Amino acid sequence: MRRPRAASASPSAADTVDFPTPPLPVTIKSRLVNSDITAQDREGDPLRQTAARRYGRARRRVALADTAAGLVALVALVVFAGDLGGVASLLLLGLGLPLISLPFGLIRYRMARRVGLSRQTPGGWLVDWLKGVTLGLALGAAAVFTVLAFQRLSDAWWPVMTWAAALLLSAALSVLFPVLLLPIFLRSEPMPEGPLRDALRRTVADAGVAVRDIRLLHLGDKTSAANAMVAGLGPTRRIYIGDTLSADAPDDEAVAETQLVLAHELGHHVNGDPWRLLAWAAVSLAVGVAGGWAAVEALSPDGAGELTALPALALGFSLATAAVSPLGNWYSRHRERAADAYAVAVTGEGERYARALERLVAQNLSEIWPPRLWHALSGSHPRPGERIERARGNPSSRAGLD
Ligand SMILES: [Zn+2]
Repeated sequence: MRRPRAASASPSAADTVDFPTPPLPVTIKSRLVNSDITAQDREGDPLRQTAARRYGRARRRVALADTAAGLVALVALVVFAGDLGGVASLLLLGLGLPLISLPFGLIRYRMARRVGLSRQTPGGWLVDWLKGVTLGLALGAAAVFTVLAFQRLSDAWWPVMTWAAALLLSAALSVLFPVLLLPIFLRSEPMPEGPLRDALRRTVADAGVAVRDIRLLHLGDKTSAANAMVAGLGPTRRIYIGDTLSADAPDDEAVAETQLVLAHELGHHVNGDPWRLLAWAAVSLAVGVAGGWAAVEALSPDGAGELTALPALALGFSLATAAVSPLGNWYSRHRERAADAYAVAVTGEGERYARALERLVAQNLSEIWPPRLWHALSGSHPRPGERIERARGNPSSRAGLD
């Protein structure tokens, strides 16, 4: 099974959600604030769309190349697993595939740095990458030996046992994410006393929601992009507000916009979206395990229960989950629309919410209307243009139903 990459443990890929997703882990030493957005960008192109389109196109090309390279390597591994033997198959799967992906990660990092989104040094980025790979290897090793044990236990039932164990692991990781995984990559602290904290408390009180913890997330160490999220399940559930979001908090408008972002996160909380996402994970994992089972039956040289079956398992699992991921993204966009609607309804400030989204689009160098097909397949949030139009109460035909 392909384990999470480095970036998966950072908020962008958390099963949590939010505003135009920044590329993380990201990077620069000097603090880049809104005022750094060049005057030239601001004039005539206030949302920086020329630069955003260029950046978006480049990122899509790298993502496609990365996926293609990984897929070719995995297929080759399946084909030669019998000749390579179990141990070599395992090592190439666990270490070879991340190494093939490394140059693409470096290119992404350099691009993010060039446009001023990343604040990490190359060394800092590499440390995060190593942390991610180590985490992936630890989880992957546990998963591999559990699956092998199931396969040897029962020819007929190992897929069901694998699915149940994977779901349990997913739930455990959701619960532990805020306390165990997130701190590996980012610092956070309780929201410090002050006008921002008071304002956020008022928003929570107005919404009538019980929230245990609102924390300030030190995104600014690594990126100039802004974000917020709900993370954790049950006792670990908490809301994170990125410090890049409230960097200019003394300003009244910034406080008001942060309140709106919080209201969006409260929407996820009220709607039980973390639980819904876990339910979707149950479906996606079932399809993935079915794909893994079929591939092991058809392609493994020595049958289930042997290390040489792992590449086939990984290939089947990856292809099957990739096949249903557009459906998961469609569902995620649906939940994001509900959280947006909640934020506007509970605050009655659609226009200000639209302005907050526009500011985030410019700050995070997001495309306001990313290509429709690409977005339909891979977008976890509605296109920013659609969100902005909906917040203003006039979705155009362009917004469509994707
Ligand atoms: Zn959201």
